[in-house]
Amino acid sequence: MLIVLKDKNNQTLLTEIQDLLKSKYGSESHVIGENNRVLAVTGDTSGVDVELLRSLEGVRSVDRVDRPYKLASRERKNRTLIEISKDCVIGDPKSVVMIAGPCSIDSEGQLDESAAMAKERGVKILRAGAFKPRTGPYSFQGKGLEGLKMLRKAGEKYMMKTISEIMKAEDLPAFEEMADILQIGARNMQNYELLKAVGKSTKPVMLKRGLAATLEEWLLAAEYILAGGNHNVMLCERGIRTFEEEVRFTLCLGSVPALRELTHLPIIVDPSHAMGKTRWVKDAALGGVAVGADGLIIEIHPRPHESSCDSAQLLDKEHWDDCFDAATKVAKAIGKTVV
Ligand code: PEP
Ligand code: MN
Repeated sequence: MLIVLKDKNNQTLLTEIQDLLKSKYGSESHVIGENNRVLAVTGDTSGVDVELLRSLEGVRSVDRVDRPYKLASRERKNRTLIEISKDCVIGDPKSVVMIAGPCSIDSEGQLDESAAMAKERGVKILRAGAFKPRTGPYSFQGKGLEGLKMLRKAGEKYMMKTISEIMKAEDLPAFEEMADILQIGARNMQNYELLKAVGKSTKPVMLKRGLAATLEEWLLAAEYILAGGNHNVMLCERGIRTFEEEVRFTLCLGSVPALRELTHLPIIVDPSHAMGKTRWVKDAALGGVAVGADGLIIEIHPRPHESSCDSAQLLDKEHWDDCFDAATKVAKAIGKTVV
C-alpha cells in the first residue's frame, strides 16, 4: 500500500500515520523517496481501512498495490475448473457450458416439459427456481421445498445436474440433499451470512452479480465463499442497473475479459435476466459466447405466457432451438464446443 502526502517533509503527519498503522493494524511502514512524502506499507494490509487514511487532512492518495481479494485473484492461479460431470467441466477453455430451464418451478408437468426441451439439446445442467426473490411481496414467491423435490425428480429422470437459488442459510441442508449447484441471486450477492454458509458447502456455487456491484465488490463476495473453504465458485454476469430503461438490465459483457484478467473463477453469462425480452435473448447470448464466457444460463419454457415468473423473457421451443444452434456456431468459430 502506498500513501502519498500533500506536502513534503510533514514529519508530524508521517509519524501519526505510522503510529496508527502499527497500533491499529500491526503494519510496518517506511518512508520512501527524497521528499518525505510517500509511505510504503508492507505486509498484509487487507484489514487496513483505506477510507480512514484517505480522510486524514494532508493525505493526497492511498493506493493498494495488492488486490483486496486474495483467493479469488488471478495471481493465485490461472483457472478454476469445476467438474460437474465427466463431460461437463465449467471453466474448460474449450467449452461453453449451457445451463437451461424455466425461471420458476410452477408444477411438475411444466418443469418436466421444460427439462425435456433442455435435454433434447443435450443440456447437462437444469436450472429452475424453487425460492423466488420477487420485487413485490404479492408476486409468486416460488414452491419452496416442494419445488426443490420436483427439481430433484426432474434431474434424476433426465439425468441432468440441477441448479437452484438458495435465499437463506437455513435451507442449506435441503439444497445439499436436493440440488447439485447452489445459486446465489443478484439480490443476495452481498448477503454475507449466506455467503459464509455456502462457503462451508461441498456443492459448487454460482454467484450472480449484484444489481449495482462493481467487479471488486463482486470478487470480494466470491472471496467470502472461497475463504470458507469452498473453491468451486463461478461468477454470473446478469446485467447491472444503469440509467437505461429500454432494456431490463445493462448486460456488462465487458466484465468477461476484465474478470478473466482479475480472477481464475469461471464466468457464466445470463442473457435472459439482462435483456428481459424473449426476442433479444439470443443476440445477447451470442455476445456472451463471443466475448469468452465459460457458459450461458438461459430461461426456457414450453409456453412462456403460462409461467408464474419472467414470462416476457422465456424462450419457447422455436427461440430456444434458434438460440442453441446460433450459440453452437459462434462457439465453433472461436474453437469451442457447447456442452
Ligand atoms: C434467477 O436466475 O432466477 C434470478 C432471479 O436471477 P437474478 O438473481 O440475476 O435476478
Ligand atoms: Mn427469472
